[in-house]
Amino acid sequence: MVGNQPQEYQVPTGVGLTAVHVAAARAAEGRRNAPLFDDPFAADFVTAAGAALSFTNYHPPAAQDTADLWAWVASYAVIRTRFFDDYFRDACAEGCRQVVILAAGLDTRAFRLSWPAGVRLFELDTPEVLTFKDQVLAERDTAPACQRVAINVDLRQDWPATLVQAGFHPAEPTAWLAEGLLIYLTQDERDQLLDRVRQLSAPGDWLAIEYNSEYMTQTAVQLMINSLSEPSSPDSAFLKTLWQSGTQEDPTSWLGRHGWQAHEYDASERAQFYGRPLPVYHGPVVQSALAARRGLVIAQQPRPAEPPRTTCSGPNYAHA
Ligand code: SAM
Repeated sequence: MVGNQPQEYQVPTGVGLTAVHVAAARAAEGRRNAPLFDDPFAADFVTAAGAALSFTNYHPPAAQDTADLWAWVASYAVIRTRFFDDYFRDACAEGCRQVVILAAGLDTRAFRLSWPAGVRLFELDTPEVLTFKDQVLAERDTAPACQRVAINVDLRQDWPATLVQAGFHPAEPTAWLAEGLLIYLTQDERDQLLDRVRQLSAPGDWLAIEYNSEYMTQTAVQLMINSLSEPSSPDSAFLKTLWQSGTQEDPTSWLGRHGWQAHEYDASERAQFYGRPLPVYHGPVVQSALAARRGLVIAQQPRPAEPPRTTCSGPNYAHA
């Protein structure tokens, strides 16, 4: 509220709106018994977004596969949130004091995790997402639990100079995260992003990513388009351009080519580990899309004294 007037929010559109969808999954987790994390702000973003959250001409009778897929994605978003929460805790326990969240969206880790003293956390995303985020958070009158720096960038452009100008120190131990981002980039843009991250990284730095296979990406886009009641609608055109690409090669090899020693975690296995198995669906299209999906990866820059390895052993993430 501004005085007695309801606040007018500039709700993100296009790819920015996907950040609200993820916040909705985290808000739903907050309504469960024994949630896997506590995100007290997620529901505020959803409320502020209001009706913008749903597609207008979605056609339920034709959409069971799509509904199943979305339900799975929402369940998976909760698992990946918890997994990357643990990743940051472990990186900080090993001495990391600098965090960069690429495409931070409505991620509120800066506010809701217990950071050690001295942590600087950089959130990179588009101006429209970060403006909406700050607008909603300002209403809560809340303060971050670390030094938070929000940076407006297009991650397809040359953003490293902006990050350094904002106070990022390449030589300091850093944990990077690309969660829910790669699918919105082309293959070339992904490679360029990884090159830029590496140029800013020092030995021992951490990088976590989440990725989808190309098959999963294409199948999911087609399912969503099929479920629209008007296949030639603007929603359809939007969906065709939203998800740009999936991962075509083994992600540990891809990261290895960019200088990272990577360890891959299966999302379903992590979900079991957290006591929250992912839903199983019997529709053949959804089943095949999900079977082709891959998972979550933690990587590290090799330290000079270490003998050459192709993968990192990965922490054990025993935070059930
Ligand atoms: N990482 C957050 C999370 O998991 O909650 C947000 C994920 S959301 C699905 C995708 C985010 O990527 C959006 O916030 C969107 O604005 C951001 N994004 C996509 N392409 C981008 C680009 N080229 N530059 C900056 N941000 C981008």
